[in-house]
Amino acid sequence: MTSSMTSRERVLAALAREPVDRTPLCNPTSLATVELMDLVDAPFPAANREPELMARLAATGYTELGFDTIMPVFTIIQESSALGCKIQWEQKDNWPTVRMSEPIWHEPDDIKIPADLCTHPDTACVTEAIKILRKEYGDEVAIVGKTMGPWSLGYHCFGVEPFLLLSLDDPGKTKLCLDRMKEITIEFGQAQIEAGADALCLPDHATGDLVSGEYYERYLRDLHIEFAERLSVPIILHICGRTVDRMEYIAQTGMAAFHFDSKNTPEESTQIVRDRISLVGNINNPETLFSKGPEVVGAEVLRNLEAGVQLIGPECAIPLQTSIENLKAIPRTVQEWHRDQARN
Ligand SMILES: [Zn+2]
Repeated sequence: MTSSMTSRERVLAALAREPVDRTPLCNPTSLATVELMDLVDAPFPAANREPELMARLAATGYTELGFDTIMPVFTIIQESSALGCKIQWEQKDNWPTVRMSEPIWHEPDDIKIPADLCTHPDTACVTEAIKILRKEYGDEVAIVGKTMGPWSLGYHCFGVEPFLLLSLDDPGKTKLCLDRMKEITIEFGQAQIEAGADALCLPDHATGDLVSGEYYERYLRDLHIEFAERLSVPIILHICGRTVDRMEYIAQTGMAAFHFDSKNTPEESTQIVRDRISLVGNINNPETLFSKGPEVVGAEVLRNLEAGVQLIGPECAIPLQTSIENLKAIPRTVQEWHRDQARN
Protein backbone atom coordinates (compact mmCIF):
# COMPACT_ATOMS: atom_id res chain seq x y z
CA MET A 1 0.00 0.00 0.00
CA THR A 2 1.36 3.46 -0.85
CA SER A 3 0.95 6.28 1.57
CA SER A 4 -1.70 8.72 0.53
CA MET A 5 -1.90 10.73 3.74
CA THR A 6 0.72 12.90 5.41
CA SER A 7 1.74 11.95 8.93
CA ARG A 8 -0.22 14.90 10.26
CA GLU A 9 -3.40 13.95 8.37
CA ARG A 10 -3.04 10.35 9.52
CA VAL A 11 -2.69 11.26 13.21
CA LEU A 12 -5.53 13.78 13.18
CA ALA A 13 -7.83 11.31 11.39
CA ALA A 14 -7.06 8.53 13.88
CA LEU A 15 -7.67 10.91 16.79
CA ALA A 16 -11.12 11.54 15.28
CA ARG A 17 -11.69 7.82 14.58
CA GLU A 18 -11.87 8.53 10.85
CA PRO A 19 -10.40 6.24 8.12
CA VAL A 20 -6.60 6.17 7.73
CA ASP A 21 -4.27 4.74 5.05
CA ARG A 22 -2.35 3.01 7.86
CA THR A 23 -2.33 3.08 11.65
CA PRO A 24 -0.28 6.09 12.80
CA LEU A 25 2.72 5.87 15.12
CA CYS A 26 2.13 8.30 17.96
CA ASN A 27 4.09 9.30 21.04
CA PRO A 28 2.09 11.63 23.30
CA THR A 29 4.98 11.39 25.80
CA SER A 30 8.76 11.49 25.43
CA LEU A 31 10.74 9.41 22.93
CA ALA A 32 14.05 10.97 23.99
CA THR A 33 16.96 8.60 24.59
CA VAL A 34 20.64 9.07 25.38
CA GLU A 35 21.49 7.52 22.00
CA LEU A 36 19.31 10.08 20.18
CA MET A 37 20.76 12.92 22.29
CA ASP A 38 24.25 11.90 21.12
CA LEU A 39 23.14 11.51 17.53
CA VAL A 40 22.01 15.13 17.21
CA ASP A 41 24.11 16.64 20.01
CA ALA A 42 21.10 17.75 22.06
CA PRO A 43 21.52 16.31 25.56
CA PHE A 44 19.45 16.71 28.74
CA PRO A 45 19.28 18.96 30.71
CA ALA A 46 19.90 21.60 28.00
CA ALA A 47 17.35 19.96 25.67
CA ASN A 48 14.71 20.65 28.32
CA ARG A 49 15.63 24.33 28.62
CA GLU A 50 16.80 25.57 25.21
CA PRO A 51 14.23 25.68 22.38
CA GLU A 52 16.62 24.85 19.50
CA LEU A 53 17.94 21.77 21.29
CA MET A 54 14.46 20.73 22.42
CA ALA A 55 13.18 20.94 18.84
CA ARG A 56 16.21 19.14 17.41
CA LEU A 57 15.98 16.21 19.85
CA ALA A 58 12.20 15.92 19.43
CA ALA A 59 12.45 15.85 15.62
CA THR A 60 14.43 12.59 15.77
CA GLY A 61 11.18 10.76 16.62
CA TYR A 62 10.05 11.58 13.07
CA THR A 63 13.33 11.75 11.14
CA GLU A 64 15.24 8.86 12.74
CA LEU A 65 12.54 6.57 14.16
CA GLY A 66 9.71 7.06 11.68
CA PHE A 67 6.90 8.14 14.00
CA ASP A 68 4.06 10.31 12.68
CA THR A 69 4.29 12.75 15.58
CA ILE A 70 6.91 15.08 17.00
CA MET A 71 6.59 15.65 20.74
CA PRO A 72 9.05 18.15 22.23
CA VAL A 73 7.87 18.27 25.86
CA PHE A 74 10.02 15.53 27.37
CA THR A 75 9.44 16.43 31.03
CA ILE A 76 6.37 16.84 33.23
CA ILE A 77 7.74 19.85 35.12
CA GLN A 78 8.04 22.79 32.67
CA GLU A 79 4.99 24.66 34.03
CA SER A 80 5.78 23.63 37.62
CA SER A 81 9.11 25.42 37.22
CA ALA A 82 7.24 28.53 36.05
CA LEU A 83 4.93 28.24 39.09
CA GLY A 84 7.93 28.41 41.40
CA CYS A 85 8.54 24.74 42.29
CA LYS A 86 12.16 23.86 42.96
CA ILE A 87 13.44 21.71 40.11
CA GLN A 88 16.28 19.25 40.15
CA TRP A 89 17.33 19.46 36.49
CA GLU A 90 19.67 16.44 36.66
CA GLN A 91 22.10 15.36 33.92
CA LYS A 92 21.94 13.74 30.52
CA ASP A 93 20.91 10.31 31.79
CA ASN A 94 18.18 11.34 34.19
CA TRP A 95 14.78 13.03 34.23
CA PRO A 96 14.34 16.37 35.97
CA THR A 97 12.09 16.23 39.02
CA VAL A 98 10.24 18.58 41.34
CA ARG A 99 11.70 18.69 44.86
CA MET A 100 8.47 17.71 46.52
CA SER A 101 9.88 17.93 50.01
CA GLU A 102 9.55 21.69 49.58
CA PRO A 103 5.90 22.26 48.53
CA ILE A 104 5.06 25.77 47.41
CA TRP A 105 1.34 25.64 48.32
CA HIS A 106 -0.61 24.38 51.36
CA GLU A 107 -4.08 25.93 51.05
CA PRO A 108 -6.45 26.76 48.17
CA ASP A 109 -5.76 30.46 48.74
CA ASP A 110 -2.04 29.88 48.15
CA ILE A 111 -2.78 29.01 44.52
CA LYS A 112 -1.66 31.94 42.42
CA ILE A 113 -1.06 31.82 38.68
CA PRO A 114 1.96 34.01 37.95
CA ALA A 115 1.62 36.58 35.17
CA ASP A 116 4.64 35.03 33.44
CA LEU A 117 3.26 31.45 33.45
CA CYS A 118 3.74 31.12 29.68
CA THR A 119 6.64 33.56 29.22
CA HIS A 120 8.87 32.05 31.93
CA PRO A 121 12.01 30.57 30.25
CA ASP A 122 10.96 26.96 31.01
CA THR A 123 7.47 27.30 29.49
CA ALA A 124 8.52 29.67 26.68
CA CYS A 125 11.10 27.02 25.73
CA VAL A 126 8.19 24.71 24.86
CA THR A 127 6.23 27.25 22.81
CA GLU A 128 9.40 28.37 21.02
CA ALA A 129 10.32 24.75 20.21
CA ILE A 130 6.83 24.17 18.80
CA LYS A 131 7.20 27.27 16.60
CA ILE A 132 10.59 26.07 15.33
CA LEU A 133 9.16 22.63 14.50
CA ARG A 134 6.08 24.06 12.79
CA LYS A 135 8.30 26.25 10.64
CA GLU A 136 10.69 23.44 9.78
CA TYR A 137 8.17 20.67 9.11
CA GLY A 138 5.14 22.65 7.97
CA ASP A 139 2.06 20.46 7.75
CA GLU A 140 3.80 17.15 7.06
CA VAL A 141 3.94 15.88 10.65
CA ALA A 142 1.70 16.17 13.70
CA ILE A 143 3.19 18.26 16.51
CA VAL A 144 1.96 17.24 19.94
CA GLY A 145 2.31 19.56 22.95
CA LYS A 146 1.77 18.77 26.60
CA THR A 147 -0.03 20.50 29.44
CA MET A 148 -0.24 18.90 32.87
CA GLY A 149 -3.65 18.32 34.46
CA PRO A 150 -4.61 19.70 37.88
CA TRP A 151 -4.18 16.41 39.73
CA SER A 152 -0.52 16.21 38.64
CA LEU A 153 -0.02 19.90 39.43
CA GLY A 154 -1.42 19.18 42.90
CA TYR A 155 1.32 16.60 43.46
CA HIS A 156 4.00 19.03 42.29
CA CYS A 157 2.83 22.10 44.18
CA PHE A 158 1.37 20.58 47.39
CA GLY A 159 3.50 17.38 47.54
CA VAL A 160 2.10 13.92 46.74
CA GLU A 161 1.27 12.89 50.31
CA PRO A 162 -0.27 16.16 51.47
CA PHE A 163 -2.37 16.31 48.31
CA LEU A 164 -3.61 12.72 48.64
CA LEU A 165 -4.38 13.30 52.33
CA LEU A 166 -6.33 16.45 51.47
CA SER A 167 -8.37 14.46 48.95
CA LEU A 168 -9.28 11.96 51.70
CA ASP A 169 -10.04 14.54 54.41
CA ASP A 170 -11.67 17.38 52.57
CA PRO A 171 -13.29 16.77 49.17
CA GLY A 172 -14.65 20.33 49.06
CA LYS A 173 -11.26 21.92 49.54
CA THR A 174 -9.69 19.46 47.08
CA LYS A 175 -12.25 20.38 44.43
CA LEU A 176 -11.56 24.06 45.03
CA CYS A 177 -7.82 23.45 44.55
CA LEU A 178 -8.40 21.49 41.35
CA ASP A 179 -10.74 24.14 40.04
CA ARG A 180 -8.15 26.85 40.56
CA MET A 181 -5.25 24.80 39.16
CA LYS A 182 -7.21 23.84 36.03
CA GLU A 183 -6.66 27.37 34.71
CA ILE A 184 -2.90 26.61 34.60
CA THR A 185 -3.63 23.60 32.38
CA ILE A 186 -5.79 25.75 30.10
CA GLU A 187 -3.35 28.67 29.87
CA PHE A 188 -0.28 26.59 29.05
CA GLY A 189 -2.30 24.44 26.63
CA GLN A 190 -3.65 27.52 24.88
CA ALA A 191 -0.15 28.98 24.51
CA GLN A 192 1.01 25.79 22.78
CA ILE A 193 -2.01 25.77 20.47
CA GLU A 194 -1.21 29.36 19.49
CA ALA A 195 2.41 28.31 18.87
CA GLY A 196 1.23 25.65 16.41
CA ALA A 197 0.53 22.41 18.32
CA ASP A 198 -1.87 20.07 16.49
CA ALA A 199 -2.85 18.13 19.61
CA LEU A 200 -2.08 18.19 23.32
CA CYS A 201 -1.15 15.40 25.65
CA LEU A 202 -2.76 16.00 29.04
CA PRO A 203 -1.18 13.83 31.73
CA ASP A 204 -3.19 13.81 34.95
CA HIS A 205 -1.58 11.33 37.27
CA ALA A 206 -4.60 9.85 38.98
CA THR A 207 -2.64 6.64 38.52
CA GLY A 208 -3.98 3.16 39.10
CA ASP A 209 -1.75 2.51 42.10
CA LEU A 210 -2.58 5.73 43.99
CA VAL A 211 -6.25 6.49 43.39
CA SER A 212 -9.40 4.55 42.45
CA GLY A 213 -11.81 4.74 39.54
CA GLU A 214 -14.39 6.21 41.90
CA TYR A 215 -11.92 9.02 42.67
CA TYR A 216 -11.54 9.71 38.98
CA GLU A 217 -15.28 10.11 38.63
CA ARG A 218 -15.61 12.27 41.74
CA TYR A 219 -12.71 14.63 41.14
CA LEU A 220 -11.65 14.57 37.53
CA ARG A 221 -14.26 13.48 35.00
CA ASP A 222 -16.08 16.82 34.87
CA LEU A 223 -12.82 18.77 34.75
CA HIS A 224 -11.64 16.62 31.87
CA ILE A 225 -14.92 17.26 30.03
CA GLU A 226 -14.25 20.97 30.52
CA PHE A 227 -10.73 20.64 29.04
CA ALA A 228 -12.14 18.90 25.98
CA GLU A 229 -14.60 21.77 25.57
CA ARG A 230 -12.26 24.68 26.20
CA LEU A 231 -9.09 23.55 24.41
CA SER A 232 -9.60 23.71 20.66
CA VAL A 233 -7.30 20.85 19.54
CA PRO A 234 -7.66 17.09 20.15
CA ILE A 235 -6.66 16.18 23.71
CA ILE A 236 -4.82 12.92 24.51
CA LEU A 237 -5.35 12.05 28.17
CA HIS A 238 -2.44 10.20 29.77
CA ILE A 239 -2.76 8.22 33.00
CA CYS A 240 -0.27 5.50 33.97
CA GLY A 241 -1.03 2.18 35.61
CA ARG A 242 -4.05 -0.08 35.69
CA THR A 243 -7.00 2.12 34.67
CA VAL A 244 -9.76 -0.21 33.40
CA ASP A 245 -11.87 0.79 36.43
CA ARG A 246 -12.01 4.37 35.10
CA MET A 247 -11.93 3.87 31.33
CA GLU A 248 -15.74 4.03 31.15
CA TYR A 249 -15.61 7.52 32.71
CA ILE A 250 -12.65 8.52 30.55
CA ALA A 251 -14.61 7.48 27.45
CA GLN A 252 -17.35 9.93 28.51
CA THR A 253 -15.08 13.00 28.58
CA GLY A 254 -15.18 13.99 24.91
CA MET A 255 -11.40 13.92 24.78
CA ALA A 256 -9.95 12.63 21.50
CA ALA A 257 -7.82 9.84 22.91
CA PHE A 258 -6.59 7.97 25.96
CA HIS A 259 -2.90 7.04 26.15
CA PHE A 260 -3.05 3.78 28.11
CA ASP A 261 -0.58 1.67 30.06
CA SER A 262 0.36 -1.94 29.27
CA LYS A 263 -1.05 -2.94 32.68
CA ASN A 264 -4.33 -2.92 30.71
CA THR A 265 -4.66 -5.35 27.80
CA PRO A 266 -5.51 -3.86 24.40
CA GLU A 267 -8.53 -6.20 24.12
CA GLU A 268 -10.20 -5.28 27.42
CA SER A 269 -9.48 -1.60 26.83
CA THR A 270 -10.98 -1.39 23.34
CA GLN A 271 -14.03 -3.30 24.64
CA ILE A 272 -14.67 -0.76 27.40
CA VAL A 273 -14.19 2.43 25.41
CA ARG A 274 -16.05 1.15 22.31
CA ASP A 275 -14.95 3.79 19.81
CA ARG A 276 -16.04 6.72 21.98
CA ILE A 277 -12.40 7.71 22.39
CA SER A 278 -9.30 6.60 20.45
CA LEU A 279 -6.65 4.57 22.24
CA VAL A 280 -2.90 5.26 21.99
CA GLY A 281 -0.43 2.66 23.16
CA ASN A 282 0.62 0.47 24.69
CA ILE A 283 4.10 -1.04 24.20
CA ASN A 284 5.52 -1.85 27.61
CA ASN A 285 8.50 0.29 28.67
CA PRO A 286 10.38 -1.27 31.60
CA GLU A 287 10.23 -4.87 30.39
CA THR A 288 9.84 -4.81 26.64
CA LEU A 289 11.35 -1.63 25.19
CA PHE A 290 14.07 -1.37 27.80
CA SER A 291 15.21 -4.96 28.22
CA LYS A 292 13.79 -7.20 25.46
CA GLY A 293 14.58 -7.29 21.74
CA PRO A 294 12.80 -6.13 18.56
CA GLU A 295 10.82 -9.39 18.23
CA VAL A 296 9.05 -8.96 21.56
CA VAL A 297 8.43 -5.30 20.70
CA GLY A 298 6.93 -6.40 17.38
CA ALA A 299 4.65 -8.95 19.08
CA GLU A 300 3.21 -6.25 21.35
CA VAL A 301 2.65 -3.94 18.38
CA LEU A 302 0.74 -6.73 16.59
CA ARG A 303 -1.45 -7.40 19.61
CA ASN A 304 -2.47 -3.73 19.69
CA LEU A 305 -3.14 -3.64 15.94
CA GLU A 306 -5.26 -6.80 16.10
CA ALA A 307 -7.28 -5.37 19.00
CA GLY A 308 -8.05 -2.23 16.98
CA VAL A 309 -5.98 0.29 18.93
CA GLN A 310 -6.08 3.42 16.74
CA LEU A 311 -2.58 4.85 17.35
CA ILE A 312 0.49 2.79 18.21
CA GLY A 313 3.32 3.88 20.50
CA PRO A 314 5.07 3.29 23.83
CA GLU A 315 2.87 3.34 26.95
CA CYS A 316 4.59 6.32 28.58
CA ALA A 317 7.84 8.32 28.41
CA ILE A 318 10.40 5.71 27.40
CA PRO A 319 13.46 4.94 29.55
CA LEU A 320 16.40 7.10 28.46
CA GLN A 321 18.51 3.99 27.83
CA THR A 322 16.07 2.43 25.35
CA SER A 323 17.83 1.30 22.14
CA ILE A 324 17.07 2.87 18.77
CA GLU A 325 16.85 -0.65 17.37
CA ASN A 326 13.89 -1.48 19.62
CA LEU A 327 12.16 1.80 18.85
CA LYS A 328 12.50 1.27 15.10
CA ALA A 329 10.77 -2.11 15.45
CA ILE A 330 7.52 -0.27 16.26
CA PRO A 331 7.02 1.52 12.90
CA ARG A 332 8.48 -1.43 10.99
CA THR A 333 5.93 -3.85 12.46
CA VAL A 334 3.06 -1.47 11.73
CA GLN A 335 4.18 -1.14 8.08
CA GLU A 336 4.57 -4.90 7.68
CA TRP A 337 1.18 -5.63 9.24
CA HIS A 338 -0.54 -3.27 6.83
CA ARG A 339 1.32 -4.80 3.87
CA ASP A 340 0.10 -8.25 4.93
CA GLN A 341 -3.45 -7.00 5.44
CA ALA A 342 -3.46 -5.51 1.93
CA ARG A 343 -2.28 -8.82 0.46
CA ASN A 344 -4.96 -10.95 2.16
ZN1 LIG B 1 2.83 7.59 32.31
